[in-house]
Amino acid sequence: MPLIQKDMDYLEHCAEKEQLFQGQFLYVGPIKELDQMEEQFKIVRHQNETLNLTILPTFSCNFRCSYCFENLTSKSGKRAFSQKIQNEILTYIEKSVEELHFKRIIVNWTGGEPLLEFKNITSLMERINFIANKNKISIDHFMVSNGYLLTSDRAKKLKELGVKRIQITIDGSKKSHDQRRILANKEGTFDKIIENINKSCEFIHITIRTNVDLDNIHFMNEYIEYMGRQLFKDKVSIYFSATTEYSAGGCVSNSSCYE
Ligand code: SF4
Repeated sequence: MPLIQKDMDYLEHCAEKEQLFQGQFLYVGPIKELDQMEEQFKIVRHQNETLNLTILPTFSCNFRCSYCFENLTSKSGKRAFSQKIQNEILTYIEKSVEELHFKRIIVNWTGGEPLLEFKNITSLMERINFIANKNKISIDHFMVSNGYLLTSDRAKKLKELGVKRIQITIDGSKKSHDQRRILANKEGTFDKIIENINKSCEFIHITIRTNVDLDNIHFMNEYIEYMGRQLFKDKVSIYFSATTEYSAGGCVSNSSCYE
């Protein structure tokens, strides 16, 4: 997105300005970003190196986050991850591998909360892995989960099946997280997620995504100090993501989003 005058005014006083330009995070000039993105999309869409799949085994979720898109799709939340759908996924993969000779398969598991379908996803992973092994192509799985149902046994099993990384979202300190990432009975989820990360990071790589918006930015110092005291601090990756009206994870309300 081109810089506007407000940004330029801010940048006047920004110590990291030069690095941001050098790293091409910022630019001045008539670059058509949308055209470039469309071009890149076409290249990815029509390449036959990697078959990239995103599988949503369910739209259901044990959480009721205040910003969740799931509110809009409560009907789809009731749809089961049936054997028929699973067989259709397998047929699609087999056909794609056979016709397009992919060298690698990447499967991203998301939802809703995918761990609600743990039995189904592990059995489907086994069958997808079988197809990959039969065709001598590499296979990697990645997962996005809210972390509440991630036990150490489940982490072990997912690792065995080739899950390379699980992304878990935390919305800042316990106080800010528990205001928005709650269970159906409105209980907070922070302590349970932290406990699960502690137990599971021994077995699987965990990335913690931290949503930051105008409502919880004030809790971030407390959150960073808290995370720095955790035993898992050297075993997990943590990153921060400013929520915008369009970003995954959304924001609590338009007025709390970054522009
Ligand atoms: S954990 Fe994710 S899917 Fe579940 S309610 Fe929260 S945002 Fe929605």
